Amino acid sequence: MSIATGIFDLVFAPRCLGCNGPAGRRRDLVCGRCRSRLAPPPPPLCPRCGFPRLRTGRMPGPTCQECQEWPPGLRAARSACLLAPPADALVHQLKYRAWHGLAPLMANAMLNVRMPDDVREEARLVVPVPTTAARLRERGYNQAELLARAFADASNTTLISALARGSGASSQTTLQPAARLANVAGAFGPVAGMEAEIAGEHLVLVDDVLTTGATITACTQALVAAGARCVSVVTFARATGRMRLD
Ligand SMILES: [Zn+2]
Ligand SMILES: [Zn+2]
Repeated sequence: MSIATGIFDLVFAPRCLGCNGPAGRRRDLVCGRCRSRLAPPPPPLCPRCGFPRLRTGRMPGPTCQECQEWPPGLRAARSACLLAPPADALVHQLKYRAWHGLAPLMANAMLNVRMPDDVREEARLVVPVPTTAARLRERGYNQAELLARAFADASNTTLISALARGSGASSQTTLQPAARLANVAGAFGPVAGMEAEIAGEHLVLVDDVLTTGATITACTQALVAAGARCVSVVTFARATGRMRLD
């Protein structure tokens, strides 16, 4: 190695996107320590929504506060890790800094999530939580779709962009009925022509972060209204900010 190459390597040594420390090998985006810290939420988990009981370790009762309001069509939810360092940094880098190369690594962590048996047996179609058309124009990509695509590629399932998200920005009058529903600000609706694909299916909905469940509830309602049988959710991270520690 020449001195020039050595200096180059020192100055442009890849930084880990999780901790900003040395990333290790040249092509690695995330260091080994950060990879090993992407641990699943500590059990016991609510069997339905995957909410962890962090403090007491008590098994959740038959009704869990987190998911008791969820619609019946929302079968189960799991996340690869809690939204804590370094997962929060990776979410940020994928969403706002366009580090698309993180998607396979994050999707890999999602593949290691243990879903309930019926979900693993039945669910074959993967639907990303859509973003608004305005945000898509601004950023050029939807991070949930990057994750869903990598997840589907690695799990022998099929990506199906079945949902649209309204921005409230475009004129309602020019839209088909399904698209009109989606055009209401923040609302979700089926993409025209997708009803036949999802009819009777148990779908896997993919997002980067699960926080309150409001988004996945709205997505589930739209998918079930469009003919899907039920929806299970896999996200990379589960937000901990509002966790009720009982
Ligand atoms: Zn790191
Ligand atoms: Zn629950």
